[in-house]
This record gives sequence, structure tokens and C-alpha cells, in this order.
Amino acid sequence: MATLAETLAEDSQKLQQALGLDLREARLEIQILLCHVLGVPRSWLISHDRDHLADTAAQAYAASLARRLSGEPIAYIVGRREFFGLEFFTTPAVLIPRPETELLVELALERIPQNQPGNVLDLGTGSGVIAISIAKNRPFATVSAVDQSQAALAVARENAARLQVPNLRLLQSNWFSSLEDEVFELIVSNPPYVEAADPHLLQGDVRFEPLSALASGADGLDDIRRIAAAALQHLKPGGWLLFEHGYNQGERCREILRQQGLSAVETIRDLAGLERVSLGVKESV
Ligand code: GLN
Repeated sequence: MATLAETLAEDSQKLQQALGLDLREARLEIQILLCHVLGVPRSWLISHDRDHLADTAAQAYAASLARRLSGEPIAYIVGRREFFGLEFFTTPAVLIPRPETELLVELALERIPQNQPGNVLDLGTGSGVIAISIAKNRPFATVSAVDQSQAALAVARENAARLQVPNLRLLQSNWFSSLEDEVFELIVSNPPYVEAADPHLLQGDVRFEPLSALASGADGLDDIRRIAAAALQHLKPGGWLLFEHGYNQGERCREILRQQGLSAVETIRDLAGLERVSLGVKESV
């Protein structure tokens, strides 16, 4: 029977070959699977590398390894992913939180005062990572988070309960459809923005994610156009709209925002230097 150290070495190689990962990444993933099955932190794994897996743990581990070898994303297998320093529950009903999206949260927080009440809206909240990260960091703000998918809202509700977020309101809405004439100081969104025919939808983790959270028409901008078109009437004067988009969509997004009458329109680059978030403000008159 193999020790944990041997399992780690052998299965990292298998995973590396099956998915074309680099070896460091594959090792990290095997460690994540082992920790998940054993219910231990990574530090434990390192200090117990001569141990053997007990039968039930070995079976559970073999099952999760098989899922990962067939390409299923690790965030769905272990059911969680870290985002903005918090741990979120994730299922195939929602997009897997991505590190680039933390930029959107940072830019939103810069525009929400610390100790003042205010209304924030997150459109297409999915697992709730954006709304919950904002609500946690701005306890005086009320964050409304909408999604058209009931299955996604159930995941967001679970995350709000686990992370204890009293200032969050979740509701089903197709973009602004359930919001009547409500207005907000800030509207944020990570909408679907991938071109419908983008070959990268057929590769890697993305294959397992909800297409409705990823693709948005021929140029990927259908939903961004919809959101921008309705934003002005749901923003208070001085209110901000901020959304994530693809690396090559910055110029078109700025154009959409200007056409809709927003001011101070600008695009911010992510840590990789790619245009990632565009924003604009409703001028106060
Ligand atoms: N950044 C994601 C990807 O390209 C897309 C996320 C989205 O459409 N909001 O995989």
C-alpha cells in the first residue's frame, strides 16, 4: 500500500499527463484532493507523508481523482473556492470564482464609503462572491444581488448563510427585470461576455461551467449592452456602474458606456496587464 508521499508523487504525474498541467500545479491539486478527503489542512499532509490512506478515505480519494482526471474542475469536486480572502461553496450551477474578478470588488469598494448606508446592486451574482465580498467589507451598505437562475441563487444563499452576511438581499431577476424603479449608488456585474463561437468554451474547466454565465451572443457583448442600456435609470446621481469584460473588449465597452450617457468612462487593467473592468458614473446635475 502506498504512503501519502508516494500517492502524491504518482498521481501528480498521472494528472500532469492527463490534463497537460505543469507538475507543480498537478501536485497542488492532488494535495487539495487529499486534504478534502481527509478533512485536514495542507500542513498536516506534509507532516504525515509516511501515513497510508484508510480504506474509506482511499475509496473517496480514488473517486475524486477519477473525476479530476476526466477534466472536471477541482472547485466543483471539492465544492469550494477561495475569493477575496473568503471561502465560497461552488457547484456546477455557478461560474467558478476567478482571481481577476477580485479587481472588480476592489474598484467597487473604492467607491463605497466605509461607514455610511447605501444601496449596491450585483447583477448576475452566481455564487454570490462579488456581492458577499462587498457586503462583508461595507457592513453599512445594503447589497442586493440578483440572478435569473434559481439554482445559482440557492448557492449564493448557502454562501450568505455560511459567511453570515446580514446586509445581503438575494432575488431572482433577469438583469433589472424585478427591480422596478429601484436606484443604487453602485451597480456591479461580472456578466457573461465570451463570444458564442469562442473555441475556449470547449476547453478545460470552462466546459463544465454554465454556458449562460459565460457566453453572450456573437461578439460577447449582448448582456453588457443590455445592462448598460438600463443602468442610467437605476443609478442615483453620482452613482457608478462597473463591470468585468474580456481582455479585447475595453474599447467597445467604453463606447457602450459613453453612448448610454455615462461620464468619467474608463477601463482598468488586471494584474496581468489586460483591460478587465470598465466603469462610468451618472453625472449629478
Ligand atoms: N473570464 C471568464 C473566462 O474567460 C469568463 C467569465 C465571464 O464570462 N464572466 O473563462
